[in-house]
Amino acid sequence: MYLKQLKIQGFKSFAQKTQLDFQKGISVVVGPNGSGKSNIADALRFVLGEQGMKNVRAKKSQDLIFSGSGTKPKMNMAYVELVFDNKGKVFPVDFSEVSIARKIFRDGENKYFINNSQVRLKDLSEFIAKAKLGLKGYTIVNQGMGDHILNASLKERKEIIDEALGLREFQIKRNDAVLKLAQTETNLEKTESLIRELSPHLKFLTKQVEKLDEKKNLQNELEVLKKKFIEKKEEVLKKSKNFLEEEIKKLKDQLNFLKQELETVQKDIQNEESKVSGFFGDLESLENSLFEVEKQRSVLQRELGKVEGAIDLLKNSNFQAQKHVSIDLFYVKEKLELLKKLLKKAIDAKSFEQMKESLLEFSRSFSELSDDVSSGKVKANDKKAKQDKSTNDKLQDLQGQKEKLQKELKKFQDEFYSIQNKIKKINAEHHKEKENIFSLKNKEKDIQTKILQAKNDLYQKETDLKRINSELSVLNLSNVALDSIAGLCSQKEFSEVSAIFKSIERINIRLETAEMIDESVLDEYNQTKSRMEFLQKEVSDLKEAIEKINVAIKELNLQIEDKFNKSFLKINKNFNKYFNILFGGGSAKLEIVKQKDEEEKNKKDTSFGIDIFVSLPGKKVNSVSALSGGERTLSSLALLFALVFVSPPPFMVLDEIDAPLDEANASRFLKILNELKDNTQFVIVSHNRETMRQADILYGVTMQNDGISKLLSLKFEEAVKTLD
Ligand code: ATP
Repeated sequence: MYLKQLKIQGFKSFAQKTQLDFQKGISVVVGPNGSGKSNIADALRFVLGEQGMKNVRAKKSQDLIFSGSGTKPKMNMAYVELVFDNKGKVFPVDFSEVSIARKIFRDGENKYFINNSQVRLKDLSEFIAKAKLGLKGYTIVNQGMGDHILNASLKERKEIIDEALGLREFQIKRNDAVLKLAQTETNLEKTESLIRELSPHLKFLTKQVEKLDEKKNLQNELEVLKKKFIEKKEEVLKKSKNFLEEEIKKLKDQLNFLKQELETVQKDIQNEESKVSGFFGDLESLENSLFEVEKQRSVLQRELGKVEGAIDLLKNSNFQAQKHVSIDLFYVKEKLELLKKLLKKAIDAKSFEQMKESLLEFSRSFSELSDDVSSGKVKANDKKAKQDKSTNDKLQDLQGQKEKLQKELKKFQDEFYSIQNKIKKINAEHHKEKENIFSLKNKEKDIQTKILQAKNDLYQKETDLKRINSELSVLNLSNVALDSIAGLCSQKEFSEVSAIFKSIERINIRLETAEMIDESVLDEYNQTKSRMEFLQKEVSDLKEAIEKINVAIKELNLQIEDKFNKSFLKINKNFNKYFNILFGGGSAKLEIVKQKDEEEKNKKDTSFGIDIFVSLPGKKVNSVSALSGGERTLSSLALLFALVFVSPPPFMVLDEIDAPLDEANASRFLKILNELKDNTQFVIVSHNRETMRQADILYGVTMQNDGISKLLSLKFEEAVKTLD
């Protein structure tokens, strides 16, 4: 790789399009003072992305654009382009030629190009860093800046060395990573702060949503319980309905049975009562018969009495001859009539007392009659006695009558008793029937009571059944009522249904408090939650990124450190070598300084700096600050050449570095250049003849009165002439 071309247009004094073709080796630009030689070095610095105006000897960016002359007006844009041979792929692109360009406009706008494609300054810086080209004062050493590396601070010096070693690329990467780390950490902090802000709200919303969930669960539970309640209620009602229907059927059957029973009992009562009225008929006719029999019997008894009297009278007529006792039959008949009446009265007596009284009267009358007859008070009927036959005949006849009458009386007597027995029997039966009727009527009463009871039951049960049917017809989830089944089912079933009902009521109470939560909270919760999830994901991504960046930084640091440490020894060795060559003896070394410079102390950066120690031959000086101008330039060159040796840049621009060198030193300087030129191309702005002599290509820069720099390709003699 080497610098092939430099194209300039409108940059400082190079108003016209000017092209410098370089070769490997040493190119020397010569020309009179003020012709614009250093403007070429400035152009090189400018195209590599220089931002410090001071470093390109300008105050403001407009100073870089051709400002016009007597013959040519000012220009609005400056353009500088470098073309590299990239066959060795030092630039990591697949092009054999690489072009880097920069444009600057009067309004301060800058444009950067790599192979004609516009890029950012950052891209350009990274790109050239890969080719170890940088602006820290090592690749391009401007006029008067030969001892820049000596004047630089410890840290600046470290930066120059880093750039020389190609560490800039890694450092840029690391700085980017550090920057990115800081940004990521800021983002992380911001995101975590957002999370902290959002957390209490999300917590609140989560609780609300939990309550909402609980409300939904309760509603579901309520629905299930209501269904269960309705099912259980339906089951209980249906069971009760079946039971009642059976009961009603039984009651109806029972009622029918009772009605039939009542009918039967009532028929029985009727039968019994008609039987009783039959008894009265029978009794009446028997009593009539008894009366008749009694009448006949009385007649017979009277007849018998008459006959017996006649017999007695006959028998006593012999025995009591002078005394004729005759019985007044009429009187006796009257008395007997009275007795008959008393007897009838006794029979007809309604009560026992009456009967007893009649019978007593009867007994008194009978005794009276008997006494009257015995005492002879009863006057004989003479007429009748006259009519009697002879005593014996008459006695016989009377005896026969008597027997006949006795027989007949006996017959009537028997009949009388038989009727009397019948009457007794009928009375006994009557009594029994009456008892029957009484018990039947009791039974009737019982049945009627039972019928009434059964009817009441039936009414009650039919009413209940109606209630059950109406309950069943309105059975639905919106009608959860417990009272309606009270008394329609068993206590056990009621308590089962009531237990479910109580649970429903409990849930209803809990739901009343949950009712307050607005459903819209769910949307807000979801939004907040996804925002939170997004932020948490962001935090985890950022943390992951921070970890990755830290790893990358660590790796870059290791790489940088490793590379630096390896190269540092070589640089030191070659610094000493070139110092020795340039001073013809002495020694020089670099030292890593951990301690910071005074101005660095307050900065956060912990990177170290590099100090320089020199020992001049034959002198006791070893402090850099005590060196002369020439000695400073030589020491700087020794270090720069050591860097070029260890890490050769594609090219190096040295603007009048050789000016303060005497001839001996200039030739040592050139000797080293010749050593290094195989690996690094040198563009040297110089007035030094010896330098010109060593040039592989010479360019002359002239400026006429038009104030525009022009380029001439020269031979050494021409160059010398140009200078003169
Ligand atoms: P020396 O040998 O004395 O160092 P030099 O050849 O290096 O001189 P430069 O410093 O490169 O000369 O050039 C300076 C010249 O460039 C001056 O004449 C100056 O007027 C001119 N110049 C600088 N900036 C501009 C500009 N913006 N427009 C036009 N001319 C400019």
